[in-house]
Amino acid sequence: MRIDILTLFPEMCERVLSESVIGRARAAGLMDLRCHNIRDYTRDKHNRVDDAPYGGGMGMIMQAQPIYDCFMRVWRDAGPPAAERTAGPPEETPPAGDKPHLIYLSPKGKTLTQRRAAQLASYDRLVLLCGHYEGVDQRVLDELVDEEISIGDYVLTGGELPALVLTDAICRMLPGVLSSEACYTEESHFSGLLEYPHYTRPAEWHGRQTPEILLSGHHANIERWRREQALRVTLEKRPELLEGAELDQKDRAYLDSLSGADEDPEGRPEVL
Ligand code: SAM
Repeated sequence: MRIDILTLFPEMCERVLSESVIGRARAAGLMDLRCHNIRDYTRDKHNRVDDAPYGGGMGMIMQAQPIYDCFMRVWRDAGPPAAERTAGPPEETPPAGDKPHLIYLSPKGKTLTQRRAAQLASYDRLVLLCGHYEGVDQRVLDELVDEEISIGDYVLTGGELPALVLTDAICRMLPGVLSSEACYTEESHFSGLLEYPHYTRPAEWHGRQTPEILLSGHHANIERWRREQALRVTLEKRPELLEGAELDQKDRAYLDSLSGADEDPEGRPEVL
């Protein structure tokens, strides 16, 4: 899979994408991540990429032309990473071939979920556009953008952190990046539940014990315990998630026991 990030701060993205799990996977060639400086595509003699908003108001707006030309170049380009060549002349016309799916990171977008990240992991190619300042000229968004994604209901200074969050969420699900698929399928949100608690050595720490069952070596019991803990944690922290989770009879009985619904003549708790 290839992901191109269009940004005014490519070094910031490069730095993060060169570290840890994603950095190692990238170095091993498990995915192709490229960061492009939108400023390389400005035609302004002072290298400007932003201007004041029409109608007045606060802040600056990223102009359409450098973003458009940068995207055209990335669309056309099947060659080496941007760092290994100069930006070259601006590209003005859409190239032949399918347009890569362009995502604009925006607080106005749909909130990112594990499900959407998993769907995006099946794309061959994605392009992520990072806004900055007050945002981006609406016309280039209308012309090019396929999807807007937000990473939460708050506003950041730029789209770089959201683009890195999205890239990480997608890339860790690509084959070979984690040691096995179970590393992410058993985690919070993948199955619709939050994950069970973890413990590691020593068995006792600050007077706090590791649950006996985890030391028992009885795999079936451990598996059931983990399932019940995942149900309990989800009920406590995010009960609304249970509405979309796949639950069997045992799960429901366990949740009923936690909610005291067995004694409730009205039946199941509302969350189910
Ligand atoms: N004026 C914009 C508004 O009120 O919607 C906010 C602009 S914000 C200061 C600058 C850029 O940061 C945005 O263009 C977007 O790319 C990015 N951004 C900020 N918060 C974000 C979020 N929660 N999710 C995704 N991107 C975000």
